[in-house]
Amino acid sequence: MFRCGTVALVGRPNVGKSTLLNRLVGQKLSITSDRAQTTRHRIVGIVHRPDAQLLFLDSPGYQTRVGGPMNRVLNRTAMQVASDADVVVLVCDARNWTATDARIAQALPVDRPVLLAMNKVDLLKDKERLLPTIDRARQARAFDEIVPLSARSGRQVDVLLDACAKRLPEAPPLYDADALTDRSERFLAAETIREKLFRQLGDELPYESTVEIERFEELPDLRRIHAAIVVDRAAQRPIVIGARGERIKRIATDARLDLERLLGTKVFLELFVKVKSGWAGSEQSLRSYGYE
Ligand code: GDP
Ligand code: MG
Repeated sequence: MFRCGTVALVGRPNVGKSTLLNRLVGQKLSITSDRAQTTRHRIVGIVHRPDAQLLFLDSPGYQTRVGGPMNRVLNRTAMQVASDADVVVLVCDARNWTATDARIAQALPVDRPVLLAMNKVDLLKDKERLLPTIDRARQARAFDEIVPLSARSGRQVDVLLDACAKRLPEAPPLYDADALTDRSERFLAAETIREKLFRQLGDELPYESTVEIERFEELPDLRRIHAAIVVDRAAQRPIVIGARGERIKRIATDARLDLERLLGTKVFLELFVKVKSGWAGSEQSLRSYGYE
C-alpha cells in the first residue's frame, strides 16, 4: 500500500514553518519544472519514503493585521492552501499559544486531518509548561494529533512526518525520486527576499511592498541576482533601507545565505528599493506579483 498526497504547513509568521519545511525536505532544494496536476498550488518540497510520498504546498503564512488588499489576499491564499491539502499542519510556538493561533485553528477546514506541530521545544526551559499549552490549544480545536518538536534540532520531526504520511490518501507516487520541488529558482529567490523583508521590518513593513527579480543570471556554480523591493511611496524607502543602509544590507545577507543553501551554489545578490506608486491598490496587480 502506497500513500501520496499534499500537506500544507500554516501558522503565524516566525513560528518556524520554513525551518520545519527545510528540515522535513532536507538541506538542498533542487528544482524541477513539472507541476502536480492535483493542486492549484505550488509544491515546495517533496519527501520520498518507501511507503509514502509527501508533497508540501507553499503557503504565504497568515498575516495578523487587518485591512488592505495585501492582507486579504495573503489570508485567502493561506486558507486556500489549507483547503486544497490532504493534511494540514498548524505550526505554533511551543512556548506560547496565542489568540491568533486559536483564530487560525478555528478557521482551518473541518473535513480533513489537522495536526498541531508545537515547534521550538528546544527553547522551553521547563518541559512541564507544555501541558497547559497543549490544553489551551485543544480548547481551540480537536487536533488529530499534537506533536511537540524542534525544527532546529530535528527532534521529533520524524514523528510529525509519520503522522502526516499515515493520513494521506492511497495513491501511487506523483514524482520521481529525484524531484524535490517544482519552484523555479527565480521564484524561490523572490520568496526568500520577501521573507527576509517581512522578518526585518515586522510591524513597520508597508503592506504595499513586494519583491521583483529584475535580473537572474545562471552561471556555473553562481547565481547573479538583481532584485528590487518595490514600495508604494517614497516615504517608505528609508524604512526599508534603514539607518546607514543597515536594514537592506541585513535583508540581502540573510536572503543570500538562505539562497546559497537552497540552491547549492554561490549567490551574488544586489538589492535595491524602487518606488512604484499605487500598485498595491488592486488585487489584480497583487496577482501579477504572484499573490494569487
Ligand atoms: P516562519 O516565518 O514560520 O517560516 O519561520 P522561520 O522558519 O523563518 O523561523 C523563524 C525563526 O525561528 C528563525 O530565526 C528560525 O531560526 C527560528 N526557529 C525555527 N524553528 C526553530 C526551533 O525549532 N528552535 C529554535 N530555537 N528556533 C527555531
Ligand atoms: Mg517562512
